[in-house]
Amino acid sequence: MKVKVAINGYGTIGKRVADAVSLQDDMEVVGVTKTRPTVEALHARERGYPLYAAKEEAIEGFENAGMKIEGALEDLLQRADVVVDCSPGKVGATYKPLYEKAGVKAIFQGGEKHEVAGVSFNAYANYEEAWGRRFVRVVSCNTTALVRSLYPLKKEVGVEEVQAVMIRRAADPWDSSKGPINAIEPSLKLPSHHGPDVQTVIPDLNIYTVAVKVPTTIMHLHSIIVKLPKEVGEEEILSLWERYPRISFVSGALGVKSTAKVMEMARDMLRPRGDMYETIIWRDAVKIVNRTLYYFQAVHQESDVVPENIDAIRSMFEMADKEESIRKTDKTLGVGWTLS
Ligand code: NAD
Repeated sequence: MKVKVAINGYGTIGKRVADAVSLQDDMEVVGVTKTRPTVEALHARERGYPLYAAKEEAIEGFENAGMKIEGALEDLLQRADVVVDCSPGKVGATYKPLYEKAGVKAIFQGGEKHEVAGVSFNAYANYEEAWGRRFVRVVSCNTTALVRSLYPLKKEVGVEEVQAVMIRRAADPWDSSKGPINAIEPSLKLPSHHGPDVQTVIPDLNIYTVAVKVPTTIMHLHSIIVKLPKEVGEEEILSLWERYPRISFVSGALGVKSTAKVMEMARDMLRPRGDMYETIIWRDAVKIVNRTLYYFQAVHQESDVVPENIDAIRSMFEMADKEESIRKTDKTLGVGWTLS
C-alpha cells in the first residue's frame, strides 16, 4: 500500500516535492493545488498530477480558463493520507484546522513557526522524532544546510560554539518581484532567525547567526566558524562529513569558485531543473586554526529540503528506519556524488 500524498501549493518547493514523491515506490501523489490557472497548473496536469483549487471560490477561475479541475482542497484531502503544505510562508499554519478536520497528517515547511507542528525535522539529526507524528515541520533551506554539516560535527567531535554568517540570495530565479537588485541588506535583527531555528532541531547546540541579503538568485552561501572542544585535523573533519551523502564537496582547484559554478555543475549533471539537493562544502577552504574550524557551504534554496520531505513522510508513517529511508530517498534522487 502506497501512502497517498497531497501537495497544497504547487510552487517552488511543492512541484519538486511532488516529483520526488512520484519517484518513490512506497508513496504516490494523489493531487496538487493551485490558487490560479497558471502555467504551473498546466505543467502539473501534464505530469499527471490531479489538479485541485486551493480554495473553493477559485474553482470558477480554472473553469473559465478551460482548465480541467477535480475539485477543491477539501476534496483532495478526502483522498490523501498526508498533505505536504507548500503554500507561502505563514499561510501554511492557517490551513492546520482544515487538515485536522479532514483527519490527514501534515508536513509544514520552514516558512512556518516551529509551534505549528511541535517537531522540526532534519533526517540526519532527528528522524526518529517524527516517528508516527501527525504534524511535522521540515526546516528551511538554510537551517537544513546548517544542521547537515553541524550535526555530524556535534555528534562525533563535539562543538563548543558556532558562529555563522548567512549570505542569502534575494529571491528565487523565477521571481522578478523581489529585491534588493542593487544593495546589500543586513538583517538588523540579531541573531538572525537561523540560529534559533537550528536549535529547534538540535536544542543544545551553542550557535549564533547573522544574515545579509545580496542581489543574487543563485544559492545561499554560509561562512561558518566552529570552536571545537579538542585538537582535530582538517582531514579528519573532511572524512567525517564524507560519511554523510547529503554533503558533497567541490574545490577551487577544479575551477569551482562560486555558487554560479556549483549551479552549472548541477545542470551539467543533468539534474532535474538544475537542482542541487546536497549541501556543498569547499574542500580547499576547510581550515582549522587553534581548535577553530572555518568553512564555506553553498545551499540550493529551491531543492535541498526536498529529500527531507520524503524522509519526513516515511518517519510519520513508520515505513522505514532512518538509514533505510535516507538510502531510498538518495538513490531515487541521485543524491551523493563525489568529484574525484
Ligand atoms: P512559492 O511562492 O514558490 O510557492 C507557493 C505556492 O503556493 C504557489 O504555487 C502559490 O500559487 C501557492 N499559494 C499561494 N497562496 C496560497 C494559498 N492561500 N493556499 C494554497 N496555496 C497557495 O513558495 P515556496 O518558495 O515554494 O515556499 C513554500 C514554503 O517553503 C514556504 O514555507 C517557504 O518558506 C518554504 N521554503 C522555501 C524555500 C525557497 O527558497 N523557495 C526553501 C525552503 C523552504
